[in-house]
Amino acid sequence: MPLVNKDGSEFDSRNVERKSIGELRKEAILPDIDGFYNIDTVKVDAVLISHPHLDHYGLGHFVNTKIPFYLGEATHKLIDITRLFIGRGLEISKAHYFDHRETLSIGDLTITPYLNDHSGFNAYGFLIEGDGKRIYYTGDFRAHGRKEGIFHQFVNDPPANIDCLLMEGTNIGNVEKTCQKEEKLEDELITIINESSKLTLFQTSGQNIDRLVTFFRACRRSNKILVLDIYTSTVLFNLFKFRNTLPYPSKSFPEIKVFFTKFHADILGKNDHDKLLYYFNNFRVRKEDIEANPEKYVMITRPSMKYILDKLNNIDGGDYIYSLWGGYLEKEWERQFKDYLINRGFEFHHIHTSGHADLKTLKKMVNAVNPKWIIPIHTFNSRDYEEHFSHPVKVMQDGETLNV
Ligand SMILES: [Zn+2]
Repeated sequence: MPLVNKDGSEFDSRNVERKSIGELRKEAILPDIDGFYNIDTVKVDAVLISHPHLDHYGLGHFVNTKIPFYLGEATHKLIDITRLFIGRGLEISKAHYFDHRETLSIGDLTITPYLNDHSGFNAYGFLIEGDGKRIYYTGDFRAHGRKEGIFHQFVNDPPANIDCLLMEGTNIGNVEKTCQKEEKLEDELITIINESSKLTLFQTSGQNIDRLVTFFRACRRSNKILVLDIYTSTVLFNLFKFRNTLPYPSKSFPEIKVFFTKFHADILGKNDHDKLLYYFNNFRVRKEDIEANPEKYVMITRPSMKYILDKLNNIDGGDYIYSLWGGYLEKEWERQFKDYLINRGFEFHHIHTSGHADLKTLKKMVNAVNPKWIIPIHTFNSRDYEEHFSHPVKVMQDGETLNV
């Protein structure tokens, strides 16, 4: 979800790098914890990372490098790929990997990770036990993605006797909302792609793996070729190891081609990943191929690729599928990019479903866990919880301590 300042204005992460750790603690941008940061003597045993979304680990580089991180192995891989392509970010020196429902101990605490259905890959909730008390942190979750079965497994066999349920409520303010399933999006995409006699462009997160699979399946069912950039290809290539049904540029998936940009090719070339670049070259699609038969292709795009599109001829009048949260369209560069494509005659479509649970799913979570208390997290609407759940709700402020 988008990060905001206390007054609700957009949080600009660039400001963070200009401030000291002391200032960031004072402003509650970093948690005010002694022995946690690079300038301190270590007093913290571990950091748990739920999943590789930046709102969950983006300030992790301030943490003392002597403190171990516990996370999924695929999460670590995605954090590394993000740093490779952005050129900065969290570099974890002490990593411990966990797995679905495999309990581990950290100090006096026992932790059991539970894999979630979420738009982020390898996302977990945590059962945290200690001193006879049990807390469940949901992480980010939903029940309408390609791993919805994992949510049903959870509610059929939830952790028992939970004192506090720390539950995300990204969508709790939208009572009417019932989230569409990824399969439904696939059908909608097929309709657009099949009717298009020109190039189809689509914009989504290169790490929303469920959505990339949805685009891949829609292309396969429409006899179209899915064109990915080097960044997205690198993500899928690396994640295949963790889920061997994932499509990625390879002989097994001839419907996937890779479009080279100098910027991305240089990143791989300059960071000792030449082999991967040569590998992708086997599946390369060139500008001339797309210009000759634009109707054959469904190509990933984003505002930073405008200069590529400027040079692509014979693509005007195609379709532009925006497959991200609609709120991002309020950002200036997103709006400008949309206007640019509309000026080139592209028809705009918004095809998206949330990465987070709708109210119906949140209720299923609460009923399954049946906690003594619910604590709202990851929401702009923590005051709404009381009206939706019969369990007691404790709304907490940043930095506030609760004795369970
Ligand atoms: Zn997330």
